[in-house]
Formats: sequence, C-alpha cells, structure tokens
Amino acid sequence: MTEIFLAEPRGFCAGVDRAIDIVEHALAKFGRPIYVRHEIVHNTYVVNDLKAKGAIFIEELSDVPPGATLIFSAHGVSRAIQDEAQARGFRIFDATCPLVTKVHVELAKLDKEGYEFIMIGHKGHPEVEGTMGQLDSGIHLVEDVADVAKVQPTQTDLLAVVTQTTLSVDDAAEIVAAVKARFPQVREPKQQDICYATQNRQDAVKLMSPQVDLVIVVGSPTSSNSNRLRELADRLGTPAYMVDSAADLDGAWFVGAQKVGLTAGASAPDVLVQEVIARLRALGAVSVRTLDGIQETIKFPLPKGLKL
Ligand code: SF4
Repeated sequence: MTEIFLAEPRGFCAGVDRAIDIVEHALAKFGRPIYVRHEIVHNTYVVNDLKAKGAIFIEELSDVPPGATLIFSAHGVSRAIQDEAQARGFRIFDATCPLVTKVHVELAKLDKEGYEFIMIGHKGHPEVEGTMGQLDSGIHLVEDVADVAKVQPTQTDLLAVVTQTTLSVDDAAEIVAAVKARFPQVREPKQQDICYATQNRQDAVKLMSPQVDLVIVVGSPTSSNSNRLRELADRLGTPAYMVDSAADLDGAWFVGAQKVGLTAGASAPDVLVQEVIARLRALGAVSVRTLDGIQETIKFPLPKGLKL
C-alpha cells in the first residue's frame, strides 16, 4: 500500500455535532445522570464516551425515573413518545436533527390539507418510526421499487412522498420514479428530504472510488448513512469494508492494494479516522491525500435552556 485518499467531506454532520453537544451541555448543566432515548447517534464510540461521562441510554420511557432529564436522539421520535415523555413530567431536550424536524413539519402541514403519504425508508429505523409516528394513519412505508406496486393508499388525489434523510440518493431517485409512474399526481418535497450531509458524503465516495483499489468506511453497523457509503463504493466496483474502529481492519484486505480510499459516516468521529490512518501507515501507507470536495459550513444552534 502506498497512498491513502481521504474523501471530502466525511464524518460528523451538523445534526450529529448538535446532538452530542446537547448531551454534553445537559451533563454540564444538570449533572449526571442524563437519560437519552435511543443511541444519541448511531456510533459505538460516541455512545460509550457519553456513557462514561454520565449518560444513560434507554429505549423505554418507563426506565427513566420521575423528574429526570431526558434527551431524544438525533433520529427523532413519534408523537406518542413525545406525549408520553410530557405526561411523565421529564425535563425534555430534543436532539432531533433540524433536517428531520423539517420533514415532520411538512408532514403535519400536508396532513392538515388532507394528504396521504408514501414514505421511502428502512423499516425499523428509528427515524422512520419517528417520522411515520407523526401521524395516526395515512402514511405507507415503501422500502424498494417492488413495494411501490403493493402500496394501497385510500385515495390518490392528495398523495405526497417523503423520505428518510439518510438514504442512497440513487436508490431513492429510482423509488421516487416508480412512485411517480404509478401515481403521476404525487407531490414531491420542494427540496429533497435526503439531507445535505448524506448527499455530500455519497458524492465524495463517487469521486473517490474510481481512483482507489479499496474503500474503508468508518461507521457503526447501525448507521444508515455509513452503510450506504459502503454499498455505493461496492456498486461502483471498488471493494469496500465498513469498520467501527481501527481494530476491525484486516491486513488481508490490503494485499495487492496500492491506493486506499477512506471516508466516514456522518456519526463517526474524526478520532476514529485518525486511528485508522495510523493503522494503515503501520500496514505500509506512506502518504495521505485529501481529495477536493465541498466544504461544509452549516451549523445548528442548541435548544433554548441549554446555554451554559
Ligand atoms: S445525517 Fe443529515 S439528517 Fe442525519 S443528523 Fe446529519 S444532517 Fe441531520
């Protein structure tokens, strides 16, 4: 191995930065423990780090003691969870990414106008559960093109499509095309729901993959956008592996590889990328080159009541 190519941009997005900041500010302001519903972001290192600082991750609100401080994860929650948390009287901070909230707001607005929805997303993902759970009914999940033929809305005059924010841009475009072929009058979001960070990281992998022999994606198995990056490189014909940390790297992957591409999902911290670079250097890499790419400047403010 001679050279490491770094995709640009890679790693943390504004929504992940804000979500982690919210937990850290809550710990600093209110002391430990702070309860977090679901992994704040889908990354093992981040979750373990916050656990060590005093965060307790739970799935059921019944596991949170009365009066405690509770944070919703970056993926968002259903109305039922919001209502239950209110009813239980917790001090609540919402780390839902503002770009997920934007989808929720659009859904609520169109629901009032009588729309029914087709949601494109991955079944069981917490963002999908949170977004679908904004409504009592009238939202139908499709995971792939085959599902589009099966979906049965009760009416088709007022039908809108929404998507998970971290999908494969290409897969989503194909599924939206199938939805439009079956329901030509369907309303699409003015700006796609797939977020800027997902789009930019996938574009960077598209640029990098043809230039390298192998792609490494730093990300946890539960991270949707990290999985999509690995799949994308693979589809472009470049063998690709996802690692949670440098310890997952297997020296056998690099036999015969000269150029190694490296990227990281939106929830993977830079410290893990640096550890992977150190390991790749130990395996023979002599230089690191950052590829050209979009410089992201977007930042989201903290919720009120958390400023120190
Ligand atoms: S990946 Fe996109 S939607 Fe998810 S937290 Fe980051 S910016 Fe927000």
